[in-house]
Amino acid sequence: MPESFKVNNPATGQMIAEVSIHSEEEIKQSLKKGHVSFKSWSKINAHERSRLLKEWSRKIQENKSEIAEIMTLENGKPLKESLGEVDYAASYIDWYAEEAKRIYGRTIPASSESKRIFVSKQPIGLVAAITPWNFPAAMMTRKAAPALAAGCTFIVKPAEDTPLTAIKVIELAHEAGIPKDAIQYVIGDGKEVGDLFTSSEYVRKITFTGSTPVGKSLIKNSAETVKHVTMELGGHAPLIIAEDAELDFAVQQTIASKFRNAGQTCVCANRIIVHENIIEEFSRKLTEKVKELKVGNGLEEGTQIGPIINEKGFNKIVEQINDALDKGAKVLTGNEFRASKEQGYFFVYPTVLQNVHEDMKIMQEETFGPVAPIMSFKDIEEAAEIANSTPYGLAAYFFTNDYKIGTYLSEHLDFGIIGWNDGAPSAAHVPFGGMKESGLGREGGTEGIEPYLETKFISIGNL
Ligand code: NAD
Repeated sequence: MPESFKVNNPATGQMIAEVSIHSEEEIKQSLKKGHVSFKSWSKINAHERSRLLKEWSRKIQENKSEIAEIMTLENGKPLKESLGEVDYAASYIDWYAEEAKRIYGRTIPASSESKRIFVSKQPIGLVAAITPWNFPAAMMTRKAAPALAAGCTFIVKPAEDTPLTAIKVIELAHEAGIPKDAIQYVIGDGKEVGDLFTSSEYVRKITFTGSTPVGKSLIKNSAETVKHVTMELGGHAPLIIAEDAELDFAVQQTIASKFRNAGQTCVCANRIIVHENIIEEFSRKLTEKVKELKVGNGLEEGTQIGPIINEKGFNKIVEQINDALDKGAKVLTGNEFRASKEQGYFFVYPTVLQNVHEDMKIMQEETFGPVAPIMSFKDIEEAAEIANSTPYGLAAYFFTNDYKIGTYLSEHLDFGIIGWNDGAPSAAHVPFGGMKESGLGREGGTEGIEPYLETKFISIGNL
């Protein structure tokens, strides 16, 4: 294993930092520390844990500009989006600081007068997290905050492309007074650290956000020691435009959903499915607006589309576009690139494709890039069928003011997140997660703390 790896700015290819990799022994020591620290952290009362979490959130807000700048430097997203992500990341800590005080037990009526039955909730132990590069702060706090609120200790391995944001945010947790061993990070290769996490006797839960194949291997490996798992995996969100939709609003929401983070989000609208009677008008309006999007370095004022995270991501997008063009798709705008393999930067100009059909890779595989493929449907049953025709089930969107169409789609779309006239429904107070191969469990909302708790029932007899 190399001793360090370089973190590059994806907008320029220049190195911004060199980060030391933890050795196997160091990672094992950290896991042990997390396990030992569970004994004391879980005994701290919920009100005090809540206070410490609030202080962590306050410190994040105090350092908002610095965190956002680090994020844009290592991830490439426009500074405005990074600032938004810092707020989003802090909102999970605020939410779970309150939820810490709402972990309730229950009393069950017993079948005999000499018995009492209680149900209590207790933290499950050390939680190990693996997070992706696309939301380097929020994907971490969405896991760390409920874990700490529940009384669990936490250790995270951030993505190799973006470790700096996570390191900064965790340092602030320590400054806020959360014990050093209660929240830790380790740096290393995904597979190697993942294997150490899943094989560790100290880890009671694995929580992961990332691609479906990696999620599947983590589930398999966690089975060896029967660990709890939460999996936030890939998505391939459909966005349906019904014939009656308010088109200007739908266009604006489609752009927000599709092009945020240069299309590199798991809830991005990846498959735009439009009623055949309005497809021409919708495509024209969408294309006009997409042409106005400014591509560039995320630190520059006005940038709306930053770079693709790395060459692997770039190649996948180009391959999907070429496959669609080979199979008859038409470019309405985009299919242009500014990329240098030698220098190490890769930009894809926002692209709109028409004449798309389901046999194209772009309609079957997660895109993770600023490409909007548009296909048509005849009736709402067909739209739902197209939408459901992938193994993914994370987010789905539709635009209609017709309550019958809306109700039909809400009930027939097999997705964990539904946006009806809403292209950005995620928030700390709602349950986020997918069906089918998009994952297991939910993060956020009142649901998001449950996966960090064990249920225990206590039966008292002979009273
Ligand atoms: P990825 O799965 O390759 O990497 C994610 C994390 O897993 C990284 O920290 C990486 O180091 C680690 N990793 C890689 N191989 C591993 C292994 N064998 N064992 C253990 N850990 C390993 O994905 P990515 O390219 O970083 O991120 C993009 C993917 O993440 C997309 O598929 C996207 O849909 C998904 N994602 C899902 C959500 C969600 O909430 N559902 C959110 C963001 C991203």
